[in-house]
Amino acid sequence: MIRHDQLNPRVRGLSPSATLQINEYCNQLIREGQDIIKLGLGQSPFPVPDIVAKALQQYAHEKDYLPVKGLYALRQAVAEYYQRRDGLACTADAVMVGPGSKELLYNLQMACQGELLLPAPSWVSYAPQALILGHNVRYLPTQADNHWRIKPEQLDQLEPLPDEQVRILILNYPSNPTGCSYEPEEMKALAEAARRQNIIIVADEIYGETHYQNNHLSMAKYYPEGTVISSGLSKWCGAGGWRLGIMVFPEALLPVQETMAVIASETFTSTSAPTQYAACVAFAESADMNRYLEDTRQVLKQVADYMVNRLSASGLSMVPPVGGFYLLASFEAFRDALSERNIVTSEQLCRAVLSETGVAFLPGTDFGLPADQLYARMAFVDFDGRKALAAVASQPLDVHFVIRNCPRLVGACARLDQWLKGLED
Ligand code: PLP
Repeated sequence: MIRHDQLNPRVRGLSPSATLQINEYCNQLIREGQDIIKLGLGQSPFPVPDIVAKALQQYAHEKDYLPVKGLYALRQAVAEYYQRRDGLACTADAVMVGPGSKELLYNLQMACQGELLLPAPSWVSYAPQALILGHNVRYLPTQADNHWRIKPEQLDQLEPLPDEQVRILILNYPSNPTGCSYEPEEMKALAEAARRQNIIIVADEIYGETHYQNNHLSMAKYYPEGTVISSGLSKWCGAGGWRLGIMVFPEALLPVQETMAVIASETFTSTSAPTQYAACVAFAESADMNRYLEDTRQVLKQVADYMVNRLSASGLSMVPPVGGFYLLASFEAFRDALSERNIVTSEQLCRAVLSETGVAFLPGTDFGLPADQLYARMAFVDFDGRKALAAVASQPLDVHFVIRNCPRLVGACARLDQWLKGLED
Protein backbone atom coordinates (compact mmCIF):
# COMPACT_ATOMS: atom_id res chain seq x y z
CA MET A 1 0.00 0.00 0.00
CA ILE A 2 2.75 2.43 0.91
CA ARG A 3 6.52 2.13 0.58
CA HIS A 4 9.08 3.50 3.04
CA ASP A 5 10.29 6.03 0.45
CA GLN A 6 6.76 7.39 0.20
CA LEU A 7 6.80 8.47 3.86
CA ASN A 8 7.75 12.03 4.78
CA PRO A 9 11.55 12.09 4.38
CA ARG A 10 11.96 14.53 7.28
CA VAL A 11 10.31 12.10 9.67
CA ARG A 12 11.23 8.64 8.44
CA GLY A 13 14.80 8.88 9.78
CA LEU A 14 13.55 9.77 13.27
CA SER A 15 12.38 7.40 16.01
CA PRO A 16 9.58 8.08 18.49
CA SER A 17 10.63 10.37 21.34
CA ALA A 18 13.31 8.70 23.51
CA THR A 19 11.48 9.34 26.76
CA LEU A 20 8.25 7.77 25.56
CA GLN A 21 10.15 4.83 24.05
CA ILE A 22 11.97 4.01 27.28
CA ASN A 23 8.70 4.15 29.17
CA GLU A 24 7.01 1.74 26.79
CA TYR A 25 10.00 -0.59 26.85
CA CYS A 26 10.03 -0.57 30.68
CA ASN A 27 6.31 -1.29 30.78
CA GLN A 28 6.87 -4.26 28.47
CA LEU A 29 9.65 -5.61 30.73
CA ILE A 30 7.39 -5.14 33.77
CA ARG A 31 4.58 -7.06 32.01
CA GLU A 32 7.12 -9.85 31.42
CA GLY A 33 7.63 -10.01 35.18
CA GLN A 34 10.85 -8.01 35.60
CA ASP A 35 11.33 -5.61 38.49
CA ILE A 36 12.20 -2.39 36.69
CA ILE A 37 12.91 0.91 38.44
CA LYS A 38 11.84 3.67 36.07
CA LEU A 39 14.12 6.69 36.02
CA GLY A 40 13.49 7.25 32.31
CA LEU A 41 10.29 9.18 31.61
CA GLY A 42 10.13 12.57 33.33
CA GLN A 43 6.62 12.34 34.70
CA SER A 44 5.70 14.19 37.90
CA PRO A 45 5.40 11.75 40.80
CA PHE A 46 2.80 13.98 42.47
CA PRO A 47 -0.99 13.89 42.14
CA VAL A 48 -2.92 16.77 40.59
CA PRO A 49 -3.78 19.13 43.51
CA ASP A 50 -7.23 18.26 44.87
CA ILE A 51 -8.62 21.73 44.22
CA VAL A 52 -7.65 21.49 40.56
CA ALA A 53 -9.00 17.93 40.20
CA LYS A 54 -12.29 19.03 41.80
CA ALA A 55 -12.54 21.91 39.34
CA LEU A 56 -12.14 19.44 36.48
CA GLN A 57 -15.05 17.41 37.85
CA GLN A 58 -17.10 20.55 38.27
CA TYR A 59 -16.55 21.57 34.65
CA ALA A 60 -16.84 18.11 33.10
CA HIS A 61 -20.03 19.17 31.31
CA GLU A 62 -18.24 21.96 29.40
CA LYS A 63 -18.41 20.58 25.90
CA ASP A 64 -18.12 23.46 23.45
CA TYR A 65 -15.11 24.23 21.33
CA LEU A 66 -13.22 27.06 22.95
CA PRO A 67 -11.45 29.96 21.21
CA VAL A 68 -8.29 28.97 19.37
CA LYS A 69 -5.99 31.02 21.61
CA GLY A 70 -7.70 29.64 24.71
CA LEU A 71 -10.46 30.33 27.21
CA TYR A 72 -10.30 34.04 27.99
CA ALA A 73 -10.64 33.47 31.74
CA LEU A 74 -7.63 31.15 31.63
CA ARG A 75 -5.59 33.59 29.56
CA GLN A 76 -6.46 36.21 32.17
CA ALA A 77 -5.46 33.87 35.03
CA VAL A 78 -2.12 33.14 33.33
CA ALA A 79 -1.42 36.85 32.77
CA GLU A 80 -2.21 37.59 36.43
CA TYR A 81 0.01 34.71 37.50
CA TYR A 82 3.01 36.23 35.67
CA GLN A 83 2.18 39.74 36.90
CA ARG A 84 2.11 38.39 40.44
CA ARG A 85 5.04 36.01 40.23
CA ASP A 86 7.51 37.90 38.07
CA GLY A 87 6.15 41.45 38.01
CA LEU A 88 5.64 41.20 34.24
CA ALA A 89 3.35 43.64 32.48
CA CYS A 90 1.54 40.98 30.46
CA THR A 91 -2.11 40.95 29.47
CA ALA A 92 -4.54 38.15 28.68
CA ASP A 93 -4.26 38.97 24.96
CA ALA A 94 -0.58 38.00 25.04
CA VAL A 95 -1.34 34.45 26.28
CA MET A 96 -1.92 31.39 24.12
CA VAL A 97 -3.16 28.02 25.39
CA GLY A 98 -2.48 24.71 23.68
CA PRO A 99 -2.70 20.94 24.20
CA GLY A 100 0.64 20.67 26.02
CA SER A 101 3.63 22.96 25.73
CA LYS A 102 5.28 20.42 23.41
CA GLU A 103 2.60 21.15 20.81
CA LEU A 104 2.96 24.90 21.33
CA LEU A 105 6.74 24.68 20.94
CA TYR A 106 6.27 22.83 17.66
CA ASN A 107 3.63 25.28 16.56
CA LEU A 108 5.92 28.22 17.37
CA GLN A 109 8.77 26.72 15.38
CA MET A 110 6.39 26.19 12.48
CA ALA A 111 5.28 29.81 12.66
CA CYS A 112 8.84 31.14 12.19
CA GLN A 113 11.56 30.48 9.70
CA GLY A 114 15.18 30.35 10.65
CA GLU A 115 17.55 28.53 12.92
CA LEU A 116 17.00 26.85 16.26
CA LEU A 117 19.71 27.39 18.87
CA LEU A 118 19.91 24.81 21.62
CA PRO A 119 22.26 24.45 24.54
CA ALA A 120 23.79 20.97 24.54
CA PRO A 121 22.48 19.18 26.52
CA SER A 122 18.81 20.07 26.00
CA TRP A 123 15.43 18.38 26.32
CA VAL A 124 14.88 15.56 23.80
CA SER A 125 12.08 16.98 21.64
CA TYR A 126 13.22 20.46 20.58
CA ALA A 127 15.67 19.28 17.93
CA PRO A 128 13.43 16.60 16.32
CA GLN A 129 10.64 19.19 16.07
CA ALA A 130 12.98 21.50 14.14
CA LEU A 131 14.15 18.63 11.93
CA ILE A 132 10.56 17.64 11.09
CA LEU A 133 10.02 21.25 10.00
CA GLY A 134 13.23 21.30 7.97
CA HIS A 135 14.86 23.94 10.19
CA ASN A 136 18.53 24.04 10.97
CA VAL A 137 19.58 23.16 14.53
CA ARG A 138 22.72 24.61 16.03
CA TYR A 139 23.94 23.29 19.36
CA LEU A 140 25.76 25.56 21.78
CA PRO A 141 27.99 23.31 23.90
CA THR A 142 27.91 23.76 27.67
CA GLN A 143 30.06 22.23 30.41
CA ALA A 144 29.36 20.69 33.79
CA ASP A 145 31.89 22.98 35.52
CA ASN A 146 29.85 25.98 34.31
CA HIS A 147 26.65 24.29 35.55
CA TRP A 148 25.66 23.52 31.96
CA ARG A 149 24.95 27.18 31.17
CA ILE A 150 25.54 28.88 27.85
CA LYS A 151 27.66 32.04 27.83
CA PRO A 152 26.83 35.35 26.12
CA GLU A 153 29.97 35.03 23.94
CA GLN A 154 28.39 32.01 22.26
CA LEU A 155 25.58 34.22 21.03
CA ASP A 156 27.89 37.08 20.08
CA GLN A 157 29.95 34.74 17.88
CA LEU A 158 27.02 33.82 15.62
CA GLU A 159 27.26 35.15 12.07
CA PRO A 160 24.24 37.04 10.71
CA LEU A 161 21.44 35.05 9.10
CA PRO A 162 19.76 35.98 5.79
CA ASP A 163 17.27 38.78 6.34
CA GLU A 164 14.13 36.64 6.12
CA GLN A 165 15.31 34.29 8.87
CA VAL A 166 15.27 34.56 12.63
CA ARG A 167 17.13 32.74 15.37
CA ILE A 168 15.21 31.14 18.21
CA LEU A 169 17.07 30.09 21.34
CA ILE A 170 15.20 27.71 23.61
CA LEU A 171 16.45 28.15 27.14
CA ASN A 172 15.02 25.68 29.62
CA TYR A 173 15.67 26.28 33.30
CA PRO A 174 15.57 24.63 35.74
CA SER A 175 16.78 22.29 33.06
CA ASN A 176 15.73 18.93 31.86
CA PRO A 177 18.18 17.06 31.81
CA THR A 178 20.59 18.82 34.21
CA GLY A 179 18.46 20.37 36.98
CA CYS A 180 20.61 23.52 36.67
CA SER A 181 19.35 27.07 36.29
CA TYR A 182 20.64 30.61 35.64
CA GLU A 183 21.53 33.33 38.13
CA PRO A 184 20.13 36.86 37.59
CA GLU A 185 23.51 38.24 36.49
CA GLU A 186 23.88 35.52 33.86
CA MET A 187 20.37 36.13 32.57
CA LYS A 188 21.09 39.84 32.28
CA ALA A 189 24.24 39.18 30.27
CA LEU A 190 22.44 36.68 28.02
CA ALA A 191 19.60 39.15 27.49
CA GLU A 192 22.07 41.78 26.33
CA ALA A 193 23.71 39.38 23.89
CA ALA A 194 20.32 38.21 22.58
CA ARG A 195 19.31 41.86 22.11
CA ARG A 196 22.51 42.62 20.19
CA GLN A 197 21.92 39.62 17.94
CA ASN A 198 18.14 39.99 17.60
CA ILE A 199 17.54 36.48 18.93
CA ILE A 200 14.10 35.39 20.15
CA ILE A 201 14.40 33.53 23.45
CA VAL A 202 11.81 30.91 24.23
CA ALA A 203 12.10 30.51 27.99
CA ASP A 204 10.87 27.00 28.73
CA GLU A 205 9.99 27.52 32.38
CA ILE A 206 7.88 24.42 32.81
CA TYR A 207 9.97 23.44 35.88
CA GLY A 208 10.08 27.00 37.30
CA GLU A 209 7.67 26.29 40.14
CA THR A 210 9.72 23.27 41.20
CA HIS A 211 12.81 25.38 42.00
CA TYR A 212 13.66 23.98 45.45
CA GLN A 213 14.33 27.42 46.99
CA ASN A 214 11.37 28.95 45.12
CA ASN A 215 13.93 31.25 43.49
CA HIS A 216 12.92 30.87 39.88
CA LEU A 217 13.08 34.09 37.85
CA SER A 218 11.75 34.49 34.35
CA MET A 219 14.04 35.51 31.50
CA ALA A 220 11.20 37.85 30.49
CA LYS A 221 12.23 40.09 33.40
CA TYR A 222 15.57 40.76 31.73
CA TYR A 223 14.60 40.52 28.06
CA PRO A 224 10.93 41.52 28.05
CA GLU A 225 10.76 42.49 24.38
CA GLY A 226 12.28 39.25 23.05
CA THR A 227 11.17 36.46 25.42
CA VAL A 228 8.31 34.04 24.91
CA ILE A 229 7.53 32.14 28.13
CA SER A 230 6.51 28.51 27.80
CA SER A 231 4.95 26.53 30.64
CA GLY A 232 1.96 24.37 31.49
CA LEU A 233 0.35 22.05 33.99
CA SER A 234 2.45 18.95 33.28
CA LYS A 235 5.27 19.30 35.77
CA TRP A 236 4.47 21.66 38.65
CA CYS A 237 0.80 20.65 38.69
CA GLY A 238 1.35 16.91 38.17
CA ALA A 239 -0.97 16.86 35.15
CA GLY A 240 1.08 15.66 32.17
CA GLY A 241 -1.81 13.61 30.83
CA TRP A 242 -4.18 16.54 30.89
CA ARG A 243 -2.27 18.13 28.04
CA LEU A 244 -2.37 21.81 28.82
CA GLY A 245 0.44 24.20 27.92
CA ILE A 246 0.63 27.97 27.75
CA MET A 247 2.81 30.59 26.12
CA VAL A 248 3.12 34.29 26.90
CA PHE A 249 4.27 36.67 24.16
CA PRO A 250 5.77 40.16 24.30
CA GLU A 251 4.07 42.83 22.23
CA ALA A 252 6.74 42.75 19.52
CA LEU A 253 6.12 39.04 18.97
CA LEU A 254 2.33 39.07 18.77
CA PRO A 255 2.62 38.34 15.01
CA VAL A 256 4.14 34.99 16.02
CA GLN A 257 1.14 34.32 18.26
CA GLU A 258 -1.26 35.27 15.41
CA THR A 259 0.53 32.91 13.02
CA MET A 260 0.41 30.17 15.64
CA ALA A 261 -3.34 30.77 16.03
CA VAL A 262 -3.78 30.21 12.27
CA ILE A 263 -1.88 26.92 12.50
CA ALA A 264 -3.81 25.92 15.63
CA SER A 265 -7.13 26.68 13.96
CA GLU A 266 -6.25 24.27 11.15
CA THR A 267 -4.82 21.56 13.38
CA PHE A 268 -5.86 21.10 17.03
CA THR A 269 -8.63 23.80 17.13
CA SER A 270 -8.45 24.28 20.89
CA THR A 271 -7.49 22.50 24.09
CA SER A 272 -10.02 20.34 25.95
CA ALA A 273 -12.61 22.64 27.54
CA PRO A 274 -12.92 21.10 31.04
CA THR A 275 -9.11 21.11 31.35
CA GLN A 276 -8.95 24.81 30.53
CA TYR A 277 -11.60 25.66 33.13
CA ALA A 278 -9.74 23.60 35.74
CA ALA A 279 -6.42 25.22 34.78
CA CYS A 280 -7.82 28.60 35.88
CA VAL A 281 -7.72 27.25 39.44
CA ALA A 282 -4.12 26.05 39.06
CA PHE A 283 -2.89 29.46 37.89
CA ALA A 284 -4.91 31.47 40.44
CA GLU A 285 -3.34 32.22 43.80
CA SER A 286 -4.74 30.14 46.66
CA ALA A 287 -3.58 28.76 49.97
CA ASP A 288 -4.11 25.22 48.61
CA MET A 289 -1.91 25.78 45.55
CA ASN A 290 0.77 27.49 47.62
CA ARG A 291 0.86 24.59 50.08
CA TYR A 292 0.98 22.02 47.29
CA LEU A 293 3.83 23.82 45.51
CA GLU A 294 5.79 24.33 48.71
CA ASP A 295 5.40 20.69 49.77
CA THR A 296 6.38 19.34 46.35
CA ARG A 297 9.51 21.53 46.39
CA GLN A 298 10.45 20.27 49.83
CA VAL A 299 10.06 16.64 48.82
CA LEU A 300 11.97 17.10 45.58
CA LYS A 301 14.82 18.83 47.40
CA GLN A 302 15.17 15.94 49.85
CA VAL A 303 15.06 13.39 47.05
CA ALA A 304 17.60 15.33 44.96
CA ASP A 305 19.96 15.60 47.96
CA TYR A 306 19.62 11.90 48.62
CA MET A 307 20.30 10.93 45.00
CA VAL A 308 23.31 13.25 44.70
CA ASN A 309 24.82 11.95 47.95
CA ARG A 310 24.29 8.29 47.20
CA LEU A 311 25.38 8.43 43.55
CA SER A 312 28.44 10.54 44.42
CA ALA A 313 29.42 8.01 47.10
CA SER A 314 29.26 5.34 44.38
CA GLY A 315 31.77 7.29 42.27
CA LEU A 316 29.48 9.12 39.84
CA SER A 317 29.72 12.88 39.47
CA MET A 318 27.02 15.46 38.80
CA VAL A 319 26.09 19.08 39.34
CA PRO A 320 23.50 19.11 42.15
CA PRO A 321 20.13 20.09 40.69
CA VAL A 322 18.41 23.26 41.97
CA GLY A 323 14.97 22.39 40.64
CA GLY A 324 12.95 19.82 38.74
CA PHE A 325 13.32 16.08 39.04
CA TYR A 326 16.38 15.25 36.97
CA LEU A 327 20.09 14.97 37.31
CA LEU A 328 22.77 14.33 34.72
CA ALA A 329 25.32 11.85 36.06
CA SER A 330 28.77 11.30 34.65
CA PHE A 331 30.18 7.75 34.58
CA GLU A 332 33.55 9.09 33.39
CA ALA A 333 35.39 7.75 36.46
CA PHE A 334 34.47 4.24 35.26
CA ARG A 335 35.52 4.78 31.64
CA ASP A 336 38.36 2.22 31.69
CA ALA A 337 36.38 -0.46 33.48
CA LEU A 338 33.44 0.12 31.15
CA SER A 339 35.53 0.01 28.00
CA GLU A 340 36.93 -3.35 29.08
CA ARG A 341 33.35 -4.51 28.80
CA ASN A 342 32.98 -2.82 25.40
CA ILE A 343 30.81 -0.06 26.85
CA VAL A 344 32.09 3.12 25.22
CA THR A 345 28.93 5.12 24.50
CA SER A 346 26.24 6.46 26.80
CA GLU A 347 23.66 4.39 24.94
CA GLN A 348 25.59 1.15 25.50
CA LEU A 349 25.92 2.16 29.13
CA CYS A 350 22.19 2.65 29.63
CA ARG A 351 21.38 -0.59 27.84
CA ALA A 352 23.83 -2.55 30.02
CA VAL A 353 22.54 -0.99 33.25
CA LEU A 354 18.92 -1.72 32.30
CA SER A 355 19.53 -5.33 31.36
CA GLU A 356 21.86 -6.09 34.30
CA THR A 357 20.21 -4.12 37.12
CA GLY A 358 16.67 -3.32 35.97
CA VAL A 359 17.26 0.43 36.45
CA ALA A 360 16.15 2.48 33.44
CA PHE A 361 17.52 5.89 32.52
CA LEU A 362 18.40 7.78 29.36
CA PRO A 363 21.76 8.29 27.61
CA GLY A 364 23.31 11.75 27.18
CA THR A 365 23.06 11.33 23.39
CA ASP A 366 19.27 11.74 23.61
CA PHE A 367 19.93 15.26 24.86
CA GLY A 368 22.46 16.26 22.21
CA LEU A 369 25.68 15.21 23.97
CA PRO A 370 28.38 13.37 21.99
CA ALA A 371 27.95 9.56 22.08
CA ASP A 372 31.30 8.91 23.74
CA GLN A 373 30.60 11.18 26.72
CA LEU A 374 29.43 8.82 29.42
CA TYR A 375 26.49 10.80 30.76
CA ALA A 376 23.04 9.56 31.73
CA ARG A 377 19.94 11.43 32.77
CA MET A 378 18.12 10.08 35.78
CA ALA A 379 14.56 11.20 36.51
CA PHE A 380 14.08 10.64 40.25
CA VAL A 381 10.33 10.13 40.00
CA ASP A 382 9.74 6.45 40.79
CA PHE A 383 7.96 7.04 44.10
CA ASP A 384 4.42 7.56 45.35
CA GLY A 385 4.13 11.35 45.38
CA ARG A 386 0.73 11.31 47.08
CA LYS A 387 2.15 9.32 49.99
CA ALA A 388 5.23 11.56 50.19
CA LEU A 389 3.10 14.73 50.24
CA ALA A 390 0.90 13.27 52.97
CA ALA A 391 4.02 12.55 55.04
CA VAL A 392 5.42 16.10 54.84
CA ALA A 393 3.26 17.32 57.73
CA SER A 394 4.26 14.54 60.11
CA GLN A 395 7.82 13.45 59.25
CA PRO A 396 11.06 15.43 59.46
CA LEU A 397 12.40 16.27 56.02
CA ASP A 398 15.70 14.46 56.08
CA VAL A 399 17.38 11.43 54.61
CA HIS A 400 15.05 9.10 56.54
CA PHE A 401 12.09 10.76 54.86
CA VAL A 402 13.45 9.59 51.51
CA ILE A 403 14.31 6.13 52.83
CA ARG A 404 10.76 5.74 54.18
CA ASN A 405 8.85 7.26 51.29
CA CYS A 406 10.94 6.56 48.20
CA PRO A 407 12.07 2.94 48.57
CA ARG A 408 12.41 2.37 44.84
CA LEU A 409 14.86 5.25 44.50
CA VAL A 410 16.82 3.84 47.43
CA GLY A 411 16.76 0.51 45.57
CA ALA A 412 17.93 2.13 42.33
CA CYS A 413 20.95 3.68 44.08
CA ALA A 414 21.79 0.37 45.78
CA ARG A 415 21.56 -1.61 42.52
CA LEU A 416 23.73 0.92 40.72
CA ASP A 417 26.27 0.94 43.53
CA GLN A 418 26.55 -2.82 43.35
CA TRP A 419 26.86 -2.79 39.57
CA LEU A 420 29.59 -0.16 39.67
CA LYS A 421 31.48 -2.11 42.35
CA GLY A 422 31.21 -5.20 40.14
CA LEU A 423 32.91 -3.33 37.30
CA GLU A 424 36.04 -2.85 39.34
CA ASP A 425 36.38 -6.54 40.28
N1 PLP B 1 9.74 21.15 28.09
C1 PLP B 1 10.46 20.34 28.86
C2 PLP B 1 11.82 20.76 29.28
C3 PLP B 1 9.95 19.09 29.24
O1 PLP B 1 10.70 18.28 30.02
C4 PLP B 1 8.69 18.70 28.78
C5 PLP B 1 8.15 17.37 29.10
O2 PLP B 1 8.82 16.46 29.47
C6 PLP B 1 7.97 19.59 27.98
C7 PLP B 1 8.52 20.82 27.65
C8 PLP B 1 6.62 19.25 27.41
O3 PLP B 1 5.64 19.24 28.36
P1 PLP B 1 4.10 19.22 28.01
O4 PLP B 1 3.93 19.02 26.55
O5 PLP B 1 3.54 18.11 28.80
O6 PLP B 1 3.57 20.59 28.44
